Amino acid sequence: MKNIIELLKENNIAPSMQRVKILEYLQNHKTHPTAYMIYQSLADEMPTLSKTTVYNTLKTFVEKGILVALTLFENEVRYEYNTEPHIHFKCTKCGKIYDLDKSFDYCTNDLIDGHKVLEHYVNLKGICKNCLVKAGA
Ligand SMILES: [Zn+2]
Ligand SMILES: [Zn+2]
Repeated sequence: MKNIIELLKENNIAPSMQRVKILEYLQNHKTHPTAYMIYQSLADEMPTLSKTTVYNTLKTFVEKGILVALTLFENEVRYEYNTEPHIHFKCTKCGKIYDLDKSFDYCTNDLIDGHKVLEHYVNLKGICKNCLVKAGA
């Protein structure tokens, strides 16, 4: 994981404490949080943080390609630190979103039926392993 301050400087973003904290949160929490979840998690620690700052900061990070904004299964936007393309699996019972390592056979720049793939986003829905155990299935 890249040093946050270096990363912000490389992208011509002034590394303010709030920006560093927001990015740090997303590097450490692979839970695909919404902007509001990020705000709630950081508000105690940073009483001066406003929702607007969180939204604006996330927007900047997405524009710079540091974060990815995901509209997974609902209209809600969720954020994650920009990693390799991966598959998302959402549990319909507990609502958790998992990253799956498994990738499809094709990758970017492959041709499928003559179409050139530049990016792929795959979202799966089902019942996660934890919920399966609880249900005794
Ligand atoms: Zn679940
Ligand atoms: Zn993900």
